[in-house]
Amino acid sequence: MAPAPSSRESVTAPVIRAYARYGRQAGTWLQGYAARGGRVYCGAGCSACCNMPIRVSLAEALVTAQAITADQRRGMADHAAAVIANARSAPSDEAYVHRHRTEVGFCPLLDRATGSCTAYDVRPTRCRDTFSAFPAVYCAVGTLEAMSPRQRREYHREVARTPGTDGEWHFIAPLEHLSEPVWTAAARAMQDAWSVQVWGDFWVLTTLADHEPFMRAIEAGRARQAWDAARRLDLAHPAVLEIG
Ligand code: SF4
Ligand code: SF4
Repeated sequence: MAPAPSSRESVTAPVIRAYARYGRQAGTWLQGYAARGGRVYCGAGCSACCNMPIRVSLAEALVTAQAITADQRRGMADHAAAVIANARSAPSDEAYVHRHRTEVGFCPLLDRATGSCTAYDVRPTRCRDTFSAFPAVYCAVGTLEAMSPRQRREYHREVARTPGTDGEWHFIAPLEHLSEPVWTAAARAMQDAWSVQVWGDFWVLTTLADHEPFMRAIEAGRARQAWDAARRLDLAHPAVLEIG
């Protein structure tokens, strides 16, 4: 008889299956979009979005943490420390996002020389379902902020004319909606295995996924003890870590 899967495996396996399903469904959707004349600007080496904050489940973070190297883990931990410093000092949600993009900066898993993701196969859902119907310059920090009111009106008019957007922003909405089953699979797997769910910042959770005292507390369903383990690592802040 095959050995029973560990609680970590029983959480990561459904997420990996959901990623594969999403990849197939998104591929089919993209083929239809291209056949109708739609254009997607994302591609290898394009990475202006890799300085956006990313929210994940601990299930997704575990998938990443289990596959990256020790050097990459150190980069993730340094980034997590910068995320926490931003969470503690940002005066508003808007400032948090802006400072994340300009000061915390690009994801350490990004190869800045080539613009490619060094953890492509284990990147989280948000990195999989973000597609742009406009050139990358519109995804870069500062572009929308620098527009004059007239340019902004023109941008929104152009978005509204572009099929596949939500009519307000230039990202492709159906490809975001298609990833909802991944979030559901992650939530259900965590609840079934641990009786608690953990959500938060990608770099904070990937660092915690590698921290045994935190993971043992989660596996025992002890939310308070897990929070204390995160606090001892200086990674507990309600804006970037939710355990419940
Ligand atoms: S979302 Fe924008 S920056 Fe990111 S890969 Fe697509 S076009 Fe490039
Ligand atoms: S995991 Fe990869 S795709 Fe996602 S932000 Fe980091 S470098 Fe970019």
